Amino acid sequence: KVILRLQDATKQFSENTTPAVKNVSLTLQTGNILGLLGPSGCGKTTLLRIIGGFERPQTGIVEIDGQIVGDRTTWIPPEKRDIGIVFQDYALFPHLTVTENVAFGLKGYGKQQIQKRVAQALTLVRLEGFEKRYPYELSGGQQQRVALARALAPQPKLMLLDEPLSNLDIQVRLQLREEIRDILKAAGTSAIFVTHDQEEALAVSDIVGVMRQGHLEQIGTPEEIYTHPASRFVAEFVTQANFLPARRQGNLWETEIGCFAVKASHSHEIGEMMIRQEDFILKPATDAPVVIRTRRFLGREYRYCLQTPSGKELHARTMINTAIPEGTRVQLSIADDAVRIFPSK
Ligand code: ADP
Ligand code: MG
Repeated sequence: KVILRLQDATKQFSENTTPAVKNVSLTLQTGNILGLLGPSGCGKTTLLRIIGGFERPQTGIVEIDGQIVGDRTTWIPPEKRDIGIVFQDYALFPHLTVTENVAFGLKGYGKQQIQKRVAQALTLVRLEGFEKRYPYELSGGQQQRVALARALAPQPKLMLLDEPLSNLDIQVRLQLREEIRDILKAAGTSAIFVTHDQEEALAVSDIVGVMRQGHLEQIGTPEEIYTHPASRFVAEFVTQANFLPARRQGNLWETEIGCFAVKASHSHEIGEMMIRQEDFILKPATDAPVVIRTRRFLGREYRYCLQTPSGKELHARTMINTAIPEGTRVQLSIADDAVRIFPSK
């Protein structure tokens, strides 16, 4: 069942020359988490605000749970859209306790019902025992859990989360990233999760939409996006892949670092070969074309910066059992189906 359908939404702010959101169409199935991923300024927040009813697009249809909430003639305001919202800054009421903050969205319910829903929501975000505290008595991570509980308590049809983890310290961010998917799933809610962090998008989402300059460049499962990026932009942004000019040579594609087999490729004779950092296999060889410029130890992996004969930089990551010193010349090989060819720019 479809919970959200967006058709051809375009929003241009009058003072700008290009639209913030351009012809975006998407559907979200009930219970799924859609991750909206893209660099800063690509239109993620604007798109979320259109869905939430805070921004009225010039064109487009917004449909939530089968009901049109926005089109040419209709515009239902945010408070009547049955949505829950979590922002980057927790936006709690400083003079209200945790319980009062969470109960805020439950006006119109009976007292018992409010107590029950607040307790449920606080259990969901693991904040039992914090009911009487004020926001200033909580850490950033705990405050964001309260904001989550407050948005979830009315049991909205759709949750909109705009970079909810971006203000948190790395340690807390990683922990809440692990939990937030479970929390949303346990609540049984559908959600749109905005982030500029590719790892976060892959980890939290069922479906990832990659945005660029206002439009949706690709939408698919995290695995699809990672293994079959639809464009060079997606490949660079999501996988931080390397690119090398390549020319077809019979069944292989030739680059300055060697010839490689490409499973899926287009019909052109030249293109750009995409090679993900983790797909390189490095083997020391004195006559090899590539040299290791720098090596960094990152705990779980080594990151190498390599230099090709033409002076191009390549990035590689390897398990820590492959430690090759800086200055070593290496032969690079790649698993057969790991490389892809994109049209030349
Ligand atoms: P993101 O959330 O991906 O960083 P935004 O949706 O905030 O991107 O912004 C997309 C573009 O729209 C940017 O160029 C931004 O400057 C512009 N923009 C956003 N909100 C407004 C506004 N209220 N008025 C004018 N321009 C805006
Ligand atoms: Mg934003």
